[in-house]
Amino acid sequence: MHCTKPPLSSDQVTSSHPIAFAESDKKINGAEEIRSMSKRTKKVKSAGRFGPRYGRRIRKDVVAIEEKMRRKHKCPRCERRSVKRIGTGIWHCSKCGLTFAGGAYLPQTPAGIVAARSVKLHAERAGRAERVTVEEASPPKMQSVEEKSE
Ligand SMILES: [Zn+2]
Repeated sequence: MHCTKPPLSSDQVTSSHPIAFAESDKKINGAEEIRSMSKRTKKVKSAGRFGPRYGRRIRKDVVAIEEKMRRKHKCPRCERRSVKRIGTGIWHCSKCGLTFAGGAYLPQTPAGIVAARSVKLHAERAGRAERVTVEEASPPKMQSVEEKSE
């Protein structure tokens, strides 16, 4: 009866404590063994921080994404495996010091590759257009210079 109801007086608190300790001392799925192996979680991995919450499927997905995320990734500039995530979508290479924007959980994503290709294409088109306007605009200036020199 004491353990199911929340403690109201100091007497109830002290009486409920031994029960709580006894429960934590029990070996649940060999938890004691894991602690001695200096491995904090045996199968739940990074989803261990959620305690018993959420559910098998979503916890499994979180573990899969975080394992990939925490791996050392290849740097797009120096090509060495020294890129780490420093924030959401922010990646940093510890070898060459490059900090760049990428995917939220991976330095490069399929959608990101498509976007980069599109940006490159539009930048090339804009560059070409700029060159054309410069070429069109320059002859009158040259003429005016020649006129002044004559
Ligand atoms: Zn690098």
